[in-house]
Amino acid sequence: ATSARQSLTIGLIPADGIGREVIPAAREAILAVQSELPQVKFIDLLAGWETFTRTGTALPRETVQALKEDCDCALFGSVSSPSRKVAGYSSPIVALRKELDLYANIRPVSSVSADRTQPPAVDLIVVRENTECLYVKDEKLIHTENGKEARATRLITERASTRIGKIAFELAKARSRKLLTIIHKSNVLSVTDGLFRESVRAVPGLPGIDGRFDDVTIEEQLVDSAVYRLFREPQIFDVMVAPNLYGDIISDAAAALVGSLGVIPSINAGDNFVMGEPVHGSAPDIAGKGIANPVASIRSAALMLRHLGYVSAADKIDKAVDDTLAPAEILTADLGGKHSTTEVTDHIMGLIKKQY
Ligand code: ATP
Ligand code: MG
Repeated sequence: ATSARQSLTIGLIPADGIGREVIPAAREAILAVQSELPQVKFIDLLAGWETFTRTGTALPRETVQALKEDCDCALFGSVSSPSRKVAGYSSPIVALRKELDLYANIRPVSSVSADRTQPPAVDLIVVRENTECLYVKDEKLIHTENGKEARATRLITERASTRIGKIAFELAKARSRKLLTIIHKSNVLSVTDGLFRESVRAVPGLPGIDGRFDDVTIEEQLVDSAVYRLFREPQIFDVMVAPNLYGDIISDAAAALVGSLGVIPSINAGDNFVMGEPVHGSAPDIAGKGIANPVASIRSAALMLRHLGYVSAADKIDKAVDDTLAPAEILTADLGGKHSTTEVTDHIMGLIKKQY
């Protein structure tokens, strides 16, 4: 999908807190590999809590319009959320996922071995369906003779399960182990999880796929045992695909395996748009101090470029990050170091430039 593009316009939405300190680092990383990209252009866009307090909206119309009309992709920092409910405020990231139909949340979690000849202890990708399941928020509270009763509807469709399945197969195919594990609980929820599982399994046989995924191995794992095994033997997993709720839990659980939230990237992807987003939040405890780890954002930029097909540009960024993390000399405080955001960023940029 790369060849036709004459230019690459990237929306930058740092939003709140450390988002403002780490998104500029991701921007630098993209500029450092720009010789391998079509002409890069950045557009600065507003969203978030601070924008809400100034303008009364957390996601200005101009931001959505610019993303839809002018941008090929975007990088989102992080939003602070108020500790109590504030009238009129809702999360811009949730709204953006809806507006742009970003139905897949993709989160690679990998460790870097100090001895680079050894494979990493953890090297997996969680692919989470992002539009349905229990998160359609169809909840009801009724009063019965025996007290209150609450119900929630869980939506699983063939269409959404198939499209997330396709993305997961593509990712598995691009990796060396080519292993896809479907996460579900169809022994209990045989109708909903049964449909998810069958829809994903059916992807290799769909019209037009033509044997494309023949080399991908498909496994299944019940969600409870998947979490157990994720903690006991994370190395058994390669690509995991899950409905929204299980995916939410598994992706946070997986994040706990590698030390700091400050190193984990993600993308939100749809058929026509992709948005990179570090997994961490706005980190109010360290915001403004210049000590936030830029790695999650830099890796999110790489992941976004990889998704768009710019594989060798993405590889160069990831290699520079690995070559920074493995020797563990230039690190931010969350990884036990004492270097600043800028020092770590500069070091990574230097290592990218060395590859040209
Ligand atoms: P939010 O409500 O915006 O999610 P939070 O208080 O939950 O804010 P997180 O951003 O989720 O904070 O981070 C949780 C912890 O991890 C905090 O102590 C934070 O300082 C730390 N942390 C998160 N991201 C980074 C980073 N990039 N670099 C260093 N530390 C980080
Ligand atoms: Mg948080």
